[in-house]
Amino acid sequence: MAELEVICDCDHRFNVPESLRGGMSNCPSCGKAAAVPGGPEKLFWLVLAFWILLAMVVLVPSAVYLFYNGYTLAGWGVVVFGCLLVIAVVLSM
Ligand SMILES: [Zn+2]
Repeated sequence: MAELEVICDCDHRFNVPESLRGGMSNCPSCGKAAAVPGGPEKLFWLVLAFWILLAMVVLVPSAVYLFYNGYTLAGWGVVVFGCLLVIAVVLSM
């Protein structure tokens, strides 16, 4: 199995399993959690999944609301408010 080299803040180098890519691992020398390099792809999918989830949470109820209440100004107001809410949540992270 492939291993990744981690360099801890204390300058100790150690290897961790490939499966920990992009995660954290405790340094065997000082015991602190050290970041394992790599993993941009995993982060990308995490972000994408997050956005899809947010879109589902906001857009699906908005679409249902518009469908049952007609495409009124108030309906679009709910959609715009939902989008602003998502943007506010994302920016606050
Ligand atoms: Zn260390």
